[in-house]
Amino acid sequence: MKMTGNPVLDELIKRSRTLGQDQTLVVYGGGNTSAKGVITDHLGREREVIWVKGSGSDLRNAEVEDFPALKLDELLQLRNFAEMSDDQMVDLVTRSLIDPSSKRPSIETLLHAFLPYRHIDHVHANAICALTNHADGRQITKEALGENIAYIDWMRPGFELSQIVSNLASYEGVVLAHHGLITWSDSSQGCADRTMEVVGQAEAFIRENTRRQEPAVTRKEMTEPEAVKLLVRIRGALSATGRRVLHLDDRLREISDSPLVKEIVEGGTASADHMLRIKPFSLVVENYEKVTTNIDNYVREYCQYFERHIETVAKGPVMHDPMPRVVLVPGLGGITSGSGLGEARAAADIALQTHTVASNVLNAFGTPQALTEKEIFDFDYWPMELYKLSLKPQALQFSGHITIVTGAASGIGRGIARLLASRGSSLVLADINGEGMEQTASIIRDEGGLDPVCVVGDQSDESVVTKTIHAAVRAFGGIDGVVINAGVAVPGNLSELSLGAWENAQKVNLTSAFLLTKASISCLREQGIGGSLVYVASKNAFSPGAGFGAYSVSKAGMIQLMRIAALEGGEYGIRANAVNPDAVFDDSKLWHGGIREERAASHGIAPSELEEFYASRNLLSVRVSTSDVAETVAHLLSDGASRTSGGVIPVDGGVPGAFVR
Ligand code: ZN
Repeated sequence: MKMTGNPVLDELIKRSRTLGQDQTLVVYGGGNTSAKGVITDHLGREREVIWVKGSGSDLRNAEVEDFPALKLDELLQLRNFAEMSDDQMVDLVTRSLIDPSSKRPSIETLLHAFLPYRHIDHVHANAICALTNHADGRQITKEALGENIAYIDWMRPGFELSQIVSNLASYEGVVLAHHGLITWSDSSQGCADRTMEVVGQAEAFIRENTRRQEPAVTRKEMTEPEAVKLLVRIRGALSATGRRVLHLDDRLREISDSPLVKEIVEGGTASADHMLRIKPFSLVVENYEKVTTNIDNYVREYCQYFERHIETVAKGPVMHDPMPRVVLVPGLGGITSGSGLGEARAAADIALQTHTVASNVLNAFGTPQALTEKEIFDFDYWPMELYKLSLKPQALQFSGHITIVTGAASGIGRGIARLLASRGSSLVLADINGEGMEQTASIIRDEGGLDPVCVVGDQSDESVVTKTIHAAVRAFGGIDGVVINAGVAVPGNLSELSLGAWENAQKVNLTSAFLLTKASISCLREQGIGGSLVYVASKNAFSPGAGFGAYSVSKAGMIQLMRIAALEGGEYGIRANAVNPDAVFDDSKLWHGGIREERAASHGIAPSELEEFYASRNLLSVRVSTSDVAETVAHLLSDGASRTSGGVIPVDGGVPGAFVR
């Protein structure tokens, strides 16, 4: 945390971060805090201000820029308005910013401003929502928290709620049904203490009233192949509106396995703002065989719900993606989705809080109650809340895509992995060289890519290939692209080549490609949304070199393998293509171990002249780099190549002898 030099603001940031650590109090952008104090403005005047958390900012890692300062006297003038629309409120609040370029202050800014206390906390605490989210919410909250905490039935935040709360300033705090808690004090510590005290009281009350014992769970454990098959099918169904990464969360296992899971899910979200990221309801899959039908039904019902209410809003919003964001599978756990694992895990964090609250309600106070459908719609499509989603970074070309890259520890494989990561792909890296692969992973992380999964092993071993596919499905839910790149250079004239060296070239370069092709096609067929296989062959496949037979034959075989994969995969939307690079030196291990010297000798030049020699013999007189190959591979993986299968693209600067034919 950066210190600001203003003690009141420093206390606020520190307190906010502490609250944000605890996901039972707030999750991802939920809740907000404020403090009132004095600053010296840009003209040297002392001004009384309120710092309020910015809309969508996360309390957990809040910094000074997450707390825009606003002129308090101007905000207090707004109390005199008889009414105020949301748009008007945003406009008027924004005009009171000390620095116009600040983040947009929370939609609950006026609520904080109107309360005559220096420090205010507003959390979406699980325990508070458990007290309110059922038919007797008001009564139970009174019993649990006493007469000094006021209670307001669900209403959407905004000007009206701010006015109502400001009239309750004589209380010690306010409970907002289906939403959370507001507490205050004139000291920062006093405010934090009050929040924890009220939440603690609520938690104790729930514990004392928990009567029901959950029946013992007798779900049979799924086998690994069963789990993998189901995950892939779920990802296929969920990706009908766009590819996404799945996260399987064990913490949601208890809820998923509960015999009362349906009632828990029908309780809706704990705090209304959870629906922004996990939708108003989760999906429960009861029969594995019917998972696709279950998802289709969910989508149909969501579309119908949208149609029922769309007429009631003025500026017709566009329907959100109708896919469930949380799928609870008894015997497996909770499956969430996102453009990458981070987003999917965040959804699981929220789902865990939301469903735990409903489960606690069920065990202590009876059937959990969701908001009415109309209330849900009005919140689900409330522009003030949707603003938070607009803060999300733009989706990249391969966001939600999952790609396996073999031979990723160096050279072309590393270059491909880096490029795909920079465009948002989730990656499974495979290589026999664990250390080099960790380096690739670390470069990707440093460059801001999503954290890849690494599988160490020999891809010519079928069990390693199976492990690679399972790793992709377990970590991300499936696969979209496979870059078959692992390879080895084996020199030697045929008359001298040993059988072992020959067999090794075929095994590493060709058999491994066959095994991964086989496993990928069966996984992609199960997933049912097509896919793209890209083979990194070589210019040698069409234009072989003397003294390089074992290698050239294996790469020619790879081209033929690619063609068969294209023939057999076509009806399932699976494309297969190859790239033929030539003389790629940067970062490549292919040239180590005497190959450079051997190739140089065969061309009658010094080893140091080899790059220049290869560049001079192609039509464009250019050197070819890993990034040139990576660009072509990325194109073949992308939707831009959706009409291309069975093709070979040379990346060799133009070598007439290796023209595709
Ligand atoms: Zn709130």
